Amino acid sequence: MSGGFSPLAPGATIGILGGGQLGRMLALSAGAMGFDVRVFEPEADCPAGRVAAAHVCAPWDDEAALKAFAQACDVVTFEFENVPGASLRLLETLKPVRPGARSLELTQDRAVEKRFVIDLGLETAPFAVVDDLTDLAEALLVIGAPAILKTRTQGYDGKGQARIQPFDDPAEALATLEGRPAIVEGFVDFACEVSVVLARGGDGEIAAYAPTRNVHRDGILSTSTVPADIAEATAAAAVEAATRIAHALEHVGVLAVEFFVRDGGQILVNEIAPRVHNSGHWTQDACLASQFDNHVRAIAGWPLGDVASRHAHVCMENLLGEEALRGAVLLSGPDQALHLYGKREARAGRKMGHLVTVRGAQST
Ligand code: AMP
Repeated sequence: MSGGFSPLAPGATIGILGGGQLGRMLALSAGAMGFDVRVFEPEADCPAGRVAAAHVCAPWDDEAALKAFAQACDVVTFEFENVPGASLRLLETLKPVRPGARSLELTQDRAVEKRFVIDLGLETAPFAVVDDLTDLAEALLVIGAPAILKTRTQGYDGKGQARIQPFDDPAEALATLEGRPAIVEGFVDFACEVSVVLARGGDGEIAAYAPTRNVHRDGILSTSTVPADIAEATAAAAVEAATRIAHALEHVGVLAVEFFVRDGGQILVNEIAPRVHNSGHWTQDACLASQFDNHVRAIAGWPLGDVASRHAHVCMENLLGEEALRGAVLLSGPDQALHLYGKREARAGRKMGHLVTVRGAQST
């Protein structure tokens, strides 16, 4: 058995914190395995809530609602890393929460996360904490420009970031963050970006999917391709680094680590997501157990499923906004799988769905 705890019985109830598309796909996987799902999400009419047995619509700091939610669940997980640590800690006093508050709290703050990564003997881009303009000016003397200013918390899809080019006025970049605590990072001249998505069971068993090559546009993931077309040694180093991170967090569930790869194969950890990840969506159509299946299996204490790709080539493309959505519905072909998130409003740049293209069988 995979879990270091007793396995959940079929038909048990899984609580998911967060109601976006990741929660929806987790709920669909959990449903296929016979679990009931309850979603906690402050926004009404959310993608996950509409496929779950229940949606608790309450603010993150509503203690009574959190307690009632815990009572109704056998295990609680999250699809969104900006759940307040205090809410997770309250839930932990009532029911198992997997992954736990350690995974969440060490990855919510970019400065804390980077120090944690460095303490593990892994590399990141050069960075410094920025609380004011003096900090920023001093950091730029060391790090140089171009550089990227990023909010320490709550940033996603390139939001809360400002680039600083040589001769830019750093005060202007800092003003765009509206006083939020930040870090400044040296700009990495990378050859490519890759990520490793893996599942860790309660007993420390690791199942890692193949590293994925990711292309971002305007800070938002555009495509994820497997194989990543990197040297074997680089792929092995990325999997080893992600495994080291998962063990150090005592993580239970799926975790993703994004890397910059330099010419020559040096890898730098960019970001850790303590949850299922957009760059792992290809696994739904290429692997016997998708990242969503394996997350559910891990938190349920069930054995992890097979992570080998069944196809020689897989590409996942995000569908952003209305136009991409309409095009994909009309154009998707027989070697493509279309996944839509049921979002009511297709704002520009919003992730509405994704399209996975598979080519060829995997030779073993
Ligand atoms: P992040 O939200 O930190 O993952 O940033 C989103 C994307 O912006 C990354 O995937 C990169 O494409 C780009 N980016 C972020 N930080 C850096 C950096 N230090 N150097 C170069 N590109 C970066």
